[in-house]
Parts: sequence; structure tokens; C-alpha cells
Amino acid sequence: MPLYEYICRECGHAFEVLQRMGEGGDDLRCPVCNELGADRQLSTFAGLGSHGGAATAGAPACGPGGFT
Ligand SMILES: [Zn+2]
Repeated sequence: MPLYEYICRECGHAFEVLQRMGEGGDDLRCPVCNELGADRQLSTFAGLGSHGGAATAGAPACGPGGFT
């Protein structure tokens, strides 16, 4: 069962939730401010790209005036 990370839109608190694949998180409440609505972050599985950066090396992630 994958562990998903959510970030509360209200207070920015990040918390993790165990969910089944494909299960929605629309009814999740922030444990800090108890607000509904949190943005799910890309899941990071243990052992995969623990240090990150390799996939994004040399790619301008979010500079101004990029695509679109
Ligand atoms: Zn919150």
C-alpha cells in the first residue's frame, strides 16, 4: 500500500496517508487545521531516487517564460 504525501492548502502542513491505489483523497482533513482539501504530492516509493535530482538534472524546472 503506497504512502502518499499531502499538503494542506490552508496551512501548508504536509502529512502522509496510506491509501490504496486509485483511492481518492478528497475527503482528507488536515490534522492541523482540520480543513478539507489537500494537494497530493507525487508519491515517492522507498528505494526509488532517494536523493532525487538525477531525473531533473539539466532541465529547467520552472523558470519564467518557459513552455506554454
Ligand atoms: Zn491545514
